[in-house]
Amino acid sequence: MSEGEAIRCGIVLHPAGHTRSPAMHRAAYRVLGIDGCYEAFDVPPADLAQAVANFREQGLRQFAVSLPHKETILAMVDEVDPVARAIGAINTVTRVQDRWIGTNTDWLGALRALEREGPIEGRRAVVLGAGGGGHALAYGLCQRGCEVFVLNRTVKRAEALVEALGAAGAGGLGELERLAPDILVNTTTVGMNEAVSPVDAAAIPKTGVVMDAVYTPARTKFLLDAESRGARVVLGKWMLVYQAIEQLRIWTSMSVDPPASQDLEKVVNVMAEAFDRAGE
Ligand code: NAP
Repeated sequence: MSEGEAIRCGIVLHPAGHTRSPAMHRAAYRVLGIDGCYEAFDVPPADLAQAVANFREQGLRQFAVSLPHKETILAMVDEVDPVARAIGAINTVTRVQDRWIGTNTDWLGALRALEREGPIEGRRAVVLGAGGGGHALAYGLCQRGCEVFVLNRTVKRAEALVEALGAAGAGGLGELERLAPDILVNTTTVGMNEAVSPVDAAAIPKTGVVMDAVYTPARTKFLLDAESRGARVVLGKWMLVYQAIEQLRIWTSMSVDPPASQDLEKVVNVMAEAFDRAGE
């Protein structure tokens, strides 16, 4: 790339609504001195294949993939890396020597967000939900050697995920209380833009770490319930920020490996502030 030539990136989703990703990435580019632009592409499912072809023509370097395309995009890239294959969903597509390579950064974003509250290795974890987010969380927590249970409205989906990952167990959402996990994460869509929770407040553990992948509102009913029970909570925005940091790392030389550098800390905070401002 010659000097002054802006890097083009973006996010593909439908509906685009008021996605905060462009604001977050642009803020990171500014602080990192990257001459880049980041756009939101509102692409209905029927137009996804054509959009991917167009992105090549338009010289895009990388694009993020959000709802509802994370699974259908698997068949539209030139290569799916082993992590995205294991999770069964792609959230990041990067152009390498004119080939689109699909990967997934949600799992690592989720782990780094949880690890803001301390180490998670070997803990008992419950993941609520068995969709794209549930797959990413369950995969990540298994990578950290956690004892992972997946609870889902449709129990068969939880069972299939647990079997694929060799996780500890599956069940319905009502089984949370008996499991008393150290780590609890909601990846269902319940609570998105409405004050409802996927589980009874009384079933949420009083100790440990509770995170919601849902980030609108910032404090979901699930997190408010967890807070009032005494648990330490992690907002969904941190998962979003750290998965975006990992996307940046894939095509820049920025190091995001612990121990966190001052530079990383700065980019994390700048992205989190941009997220907050974009939601005002
Ligand atoms: P998805 O693949 O569509 O999965 C949806 C999940 O929600 C399924 O487990 C589904 O259960 C469950 N569900 C839907 N309606 C329900 C209801 N009324 N009661 C109980 N369970 C219900 O969605 P996703 O991609 O996993 O995303 C889920 C949420 O996580 C979204 O809010 C998304 O924005 C968020 N997310 C956030 C991040 C982040 O970086 N913070 C990353 C990824 C996702 P069934 O299987 O029974 O249908």
